[in-house]
Amino acid sequence: METLTNNMAQKEGYFGIYGGQYINEELKAEFDNIYEQFLKLTSDDAFQNELKDLLEHFSCRPTPVYFAKNLSEKFGCDIYLKREDLNHTGAHKINHSLGEVLLAKKIGKKKVIAETGAGQHGVAIATSAALLGLECDIYMGEVDIQKAMPNVNRMKILGANVIPVYSGQKTLKEAVDAAFEAYQKEYKTALYTIGSVVGPHPFPTIVEYFQSVIGKESREQFLKMTGTLPDCVIACVGGGSNSIGMFDGFIEDKEVKIYGVEPLGKGEKIGENAASLTYGREGILHGFKCLLLQNDDNTVADAYSVASGLDYPGVGPKHCYLKDIGRVEYKTINDKEAIDAFYELSRTEGIIPALESSHAIAYGLKIAKENQGKKILISLSGRGDKDIEFVLENYPKTF
Ligand SMILES: *Cc1c(COP(=O)(O)O)cnc(C)c1O
Repeated sequence: METLTNNMAQKEGYFGIYGGQYINEELKAEFDNIYEQFLKLTSDDAFQNELKDLLEHFSCRPTPVYFAKNLSEKFGCDIYLKREDLNHTGAHKINHSLGEVLLAKKIGKKKVIAETGAGQHGVAIATSAALLGLECDIYMGEVDIQKAMPNVNRMKILGANVIPVYSGQKTLKEAVDAAFEAYQKEYKTALYTIGSVVGPHPFPTIVEYFQSVIGKESREQFLKMTGTLPDCVIACVGGGSNSIGMFDGFIEDKEVKIYGVEPLGKGEKIGENAASLTYGREGILHGFKCLLLQNDDNTVADAYSVASGLDYPGVGPKHCYLKDIGRVEYKTINDKEAIDAFYELSRTEGIIPALESSHAIAYGLKIAKENQGKKILISLSGRGDKDIEFVLENYPKTF
């Protein structure tokens, strides 16, 4: 991972023209300090062993690569799923949460501060903070609080302070603004534990480092199971953390095609989707440069997807670079296709996927139909328990 990142970044913290640190000098010094400590710690065996132990015994890693036999027979391809849904707390987010909170503890911080949209990242951070004995403040838009009450309750039980945000749309973007503002006042004693491979340098690199375990395990497991590499690898892209973690394992295998799947939501118009790599233009949000969904007047557009974990108007800077150099192809899947895939996987394999992950499944099935006989590896980033009520209420299956 380290060499890969260094090869790809033209200068520290940049991926092509994307990334960087669009923040004030005071925070810049703090972030440079955090990065230095991160590099030091991750090259230390004691830190690595502690992290490995947490991932193995607390979060059940390595998660299996599962051959989806029924789906494969039905769609005429060999379809494999990397089971990140089997992690403790139900998704890949615990990988970087344990890493970030352990990092905070080791560099002497007493508290972690984070934002959350649907509450998945908040729960993973609150879980890690409870385990490692740090205070935890989670900022969450008031609209999201009402929509994701079970996760709010989980965070409270875990001992986190859930702080409602009432500005603007009262959703994820405002929660990030509020968390960042709080962090600027408390950075001497707290660490901002961001929820994806976004934000100013060094956060995209730190989160990628902790998520690259997905791709590393997958490559070894796939080789062991089949004796070959997959023909293609697929993952959904919100901020881009489960996907970049998966892609890291295969990016140097030029024969493996890599697809990132963005949410097309209700359609192609700005405001109807959250496909930043497909419809975004170069812009700056939350301290970094990326492809960003913008209105005609260059203000940040509202992002929408049926999967609330995907509805961020920006995207990780490395994805923008991988798109520019053509190593990864970014495709879109709309709400309806994602819902169909949600039911398909549930009924064919007995696995209820998260709506986010359903986007990757849907694209995998599309490839399978068009290219029979391929070996397809899909990142099943999380389980669908959180989505069950919403799906039954809004998209009931009538057969
Ligand atoms: C949050 C979430 C995502 C999107 O985040 P990335 O950083 O793009 O991985 C995807 N799947 C699940 C299950 C999530 O909870």
